[in-house]
Amino acid sequence: MKYWVDLHIHSCLSPCAEDDMTPNNIVNMALLKGLDIIAITDHNSARNLEAVIEAGIRQGLLVIPGMELCTAEEIHLVCLFPELKRALSFEKSVYDNLHPIENREDIFGTQIIMDYQDNEIGKETRLLSGASRMDTGTAIKAVRNLDGVVIPAHIDRQSYSMLNTLGAIPSEYDLKYLELSKNCLFDAFLNENPSLSSYQYLRTSDAHFLGDILEQEVSFDLKEKTIESVLDIFRFM
Ligand SMILES: [Zn+2]
Ligand SMILES: [Zn+2]
Repeated sequence: MKYWVDLHIHSCLSPCAEDDMTPNNIVNMALLKGLDIIAITDHNSARNLEAVIEAGIRQGLLVIPGMELCTAEEIHLVCLFPELKRALSFEKSVYDNLHPIENREDIFGTQIIMDYQDNEIGKETRLLSGASRMDTGTAIKAVRNLDGVVIPAHIDRQSYSMLNTLGAIPSEYDLKYLELSKNCLFDAFLNENPSLSSYQYLRTSDAHFLGDILEQEVSFDLKEKTIESVLDIFRFM
């Protein structure tokens, strides 16, 4: 069956995302737009996953636990996990590798932690938007050790893109999919990067605002609506 997806969405925990990216607002907007499956991918943190997953369960939206990691090389990686527990276990390694810089709300924005009813239950005080000390190769291995999958984020962009930072997509990373930003012109991108034609491509919203969440634009054909079947798409079987 065909399922509509958006696998890169930020919640109000990400300093650069709007405060109204609450668990229920995200879930309701995704449903309004006709989506079946979303992933929550906050910068370097998993602290709002439980709330969005729970809000999703209550409303019939499948929410995949994820994270957008900023590696030591300043490359953004979309990391998706089979279950919350593993995302939290990855978060522990990421937090151990975060520079101990306090967030300044007036400069970077708020980092709000919520429960599934959209009550604020805390704030993350460490700045989440900076680079971690975990390098890209180590991060990819760590995610895969937890049975997660990695998709290099918005490789068509100038900043925080694996392609622009390293000048290539290293084959040793054994990646199947690359992510393109919402408005990337695919044909022009492939013309400029013919060596990347063997990859498969995922388009996401990278939404920081409710209105940015994808409509019915990206779909997967899945045997069943489970996190495992979505993650399998990104694995070499
Ligand atoms: Zn990013
Ligand atoms: Zn993002």
